[in-house]
Amino acid sequence: QDIRPAARVAAPVALAPSDPPPVRRPLISYVLPVYNEQDGITAFHTELTAAFAGRPDLDFEMVYVNDGSSDGSLAILQDLAQQDDRVRVVDFARNFGHQIAITAGLDIAKGDAVIVMDTDLQDPPRVSLELVDAWREGAEIVHARRRSRQDTAFKRTTAHMFYRLLRSWTEVDIPVDTGDFRLLDRRVADELRKYRERSRFVRGIVASMGYRQKEVPFDRDERFAGETKYPLRKMARLAVDGVTSFSTVPLKLITRLGFVVLALSLLGIVYALAMKFFRPDITVSGWTMLMVVVLFLGGTQMLSLGVLGSYIGRIYSEAQGRPLYLVREVIGDRDEDRRDGR
Ligand code: UDP
Ligand code: MG
Repeated sequence: QDIRPAARVAAPVALAPSDPPPVRRPLISYVLPVYNEQDGITAFHTELTAAFAGRPDLDFEMVYVNDGSSDGSLAILQDLAQQDDRVRVVDFARNFGHQIAITAGLDIAKGDAVIVMDTDLQDPPRVSLELVDAWREGAEIVHARRRSRQDTAFKRTTAHMFYRLLRSWTEVDIPVDTGDFRLLDRRVADELRKYRERSRFVRGIVASMGYRQKEVPFDRDERFAGETKYPLRKMARLAVDGVTSFSTVPLKLITRLGFVVLALSLLGIVYALAMKFFRPDITVSGWTMLMVVVLFLGGTQMLSLGVLGSYIGRIYSEAQGRPLYLVREVIGDRDEDRRDGR
């Protein structure tokens, strides 16, 4: 198939206008994390493949990662893999979380560009092709930025605050209001695979990598079916991972907090002494003041320990060096030369 330069020179006939040189179409991989999406996944797949129909200039492959779904998602994905040989399914041994699912997909995606998107139709498939256009114009990382979103007011405000906090606390320029919907050039995807930290915040890592980055705005739709798989608990964990993996500001805040408490206690001491010497008629009231001080100090100390703990916890889990994820099976993998997932 691959024509060496020498062969090409020897056979100029092959360059006749009636016989265009075989151009390889760029392969676009989709990395699609799935966790209990049985009611929406078929609609998603249909819409995605319909979007491909308008682009005969591109080849596509889809890597679905079943992140330990407990509903019928796996069976549906197996069917998809059987009907469409552009589909591969990575079946996780259990739920490892969205960020790890993305990582596994990136590990086996083979495309010249890799697009990561949600499978609940909140990231519209047609927008992914706009990302491809930006890539063909030279961008190496294309972020899809939410111009508007249909989530609940609570989710919108917390997300808004989080992205701004992250921006002010970290050195890397994490684009505001982008989720994990983005396109990565092959080179970037390969480099990203070298980041093997466990508590990962993929969008932050990507933003910190450099390269030619571009943003494409889009309007985020409502979830097609089912409910969010990011309850408050998981959102909070992702937020903590985001901050702790890019910033030591919380550790520095502890020191500052210590200074503030120290200053307050000095004021208290001066006040108590002054009263004792100059106004012996006023006794500084005892119990309330004592309780307030004890509880305040106890609270700030525990908070500080918690912050320390979250960093130490990260060090611990990195030090264990366990595999990031466990795969039961990769369905639809027909290729011998596939990547080994490590
Ligand atoms: N997801 C996953 N593992 C999880 C949680 C979510 O693979 O533990 C997938 C989910 O199926 C979806 C994407 O990650 O494709 C984003 O999740 P979701 O739509 O629930 O998040 P939201 O859009 O509400 O932030
Ligand atoms: Mg969603």
